Amino acid sequence: MANVLAVLEQRAGALKQVSQEVLTAARSLADASGGSVDALVLGPAAIDVSELGTHGADRVIVVEGDDLSLYQPEIYAAAVVGQTQSGDYVAVMMSATAMGKDLGPRVAARLDCPLAVDVTGVEWSDGITISRPVYSGKAICRISITPSPCVISLRPNVFTPRENPRDPSTEKVAPPKVEVRARTLEIKEPEKAHLDVAEASVIVSGGRGLKEAENFTLVEDLAEALGNAAVGASRAVVDAGWRSHADQVGQTGKTVSPQLYIAIGISGAIQHLAGMRTSKVIVAINKDRDAPIFKIADYGIVGDLFEIVPRLTQEIKNLRGA
Ligand SMILES: Cc1cc2nc3c(=O)[nH]c(=O)nc-3n(C[C@H](O)[C@H](O)[C@H](O)COP(=O)(O)OP(=O)(O)OC[C@H]3O[C@@H](n4cnc5c(N)ncnc54)[C@H](O)[C@@H]3O)c2cc1C
Repeated sequence: MANVLAVLEQRAGALKQVSQEVLTAARSLADASGGSVDALVLGPAAIDVSELGTHGADRVIVVEGDDLSLYQPEIYAAAVVGQTQSGDYVAVMMSATAMGKDLGPRVAARLDCPLAVDVTGVEWSDGITISRPVYSGKAICRISITPSPCVISLRPNVFTPRENPRDPSTEKVAPPKVEVRARTLEIKEPEKAHLDVAEASVIVSGGRGLKEAENFTLVEDLAEALGNAAVGASRAVVDAGWRSHADQVGQTGKTVSPQLYIAIGISGAIQHLAGMRTSKVIVAINKDRDAPIFKIADYGIVGDLFEIVPRLTQEIKNLRGA
């Protein structure tokens, strides 16, 4: 029997969508092995956990503290380690977001247990087998993990949230007392609020084909017309100072897995593909029919982006009645 600890994520007291993804993956692992799912949430007092039963939590453990509305590495790690040691868990699951990428290794090191990062598949058959892309996404590696527990971080947007209603019990727990050497004081939002590419379900990305920074308005306009879409960028334009590094997709940027990825004026270098090839649907707009991006695109438009993108934006606005 394999019980799973799902470590959830909130921002300003509201649970993030990745929390549903983690619960969904934890539920399917627990169902396959006949185990149960404990959901661990760290956050401020007002956090609303009433929906967690919907996605399969059997038990909800809330660690409340005023300074826990922001990710506090040492307190969060101590709380996850403490909960893991107090239960009989085969896996500790979290999302491979910025928080999960920091928290996962801390927890695994303290528990002296295996860590699997950026995982895109989890199976159970007398033990856990995970899948994750390797070699810039050219191959999928399957690894069976024997020691228990293990820490697994899941690539955002890969595990589609599924409802699996339960009636969980909820326990409130005080934060662990730890010596805090570094404290997160504030998270600064960008001046113009925009979605993080790592978590968006639709991304419109621009590359050097846009010729100059000002032309990124074409990408932004299309993203706005689509609604709730993030704007991404290739490294070439980030290096040129047209966009911030936070928007960069690829090997040295962010790994994304949206439902829809639109690449505009991006050639599709292997390092760019490494960050976006697991997107569900890929659309490429490029004037060079031999551009490598077309090899992985589901839909390709060969032509001048300066003609195509404004027309596409207008058509989408018409369709959406804007
Ligand atoms: C160690 C390392 C790490 C790297 N990490 C990353 C990374 O994380 N992310 C990343 O993106 N890159 C990364 N790179 C860089 C990568 O190799 C490429 O140089 C980069 O992705 C190219 O960006 P681009 O496609 O925007 O530009 P280009 O390769 O110059 O492509 C521009 C494209 O625009 C098209 N185009 C031009 N004009 C038009 C037009 N009017 N209409 C339509 N299409 C047009 C062209 O046909 C071309 O295909 C890395 C490289 C190295 C060595």
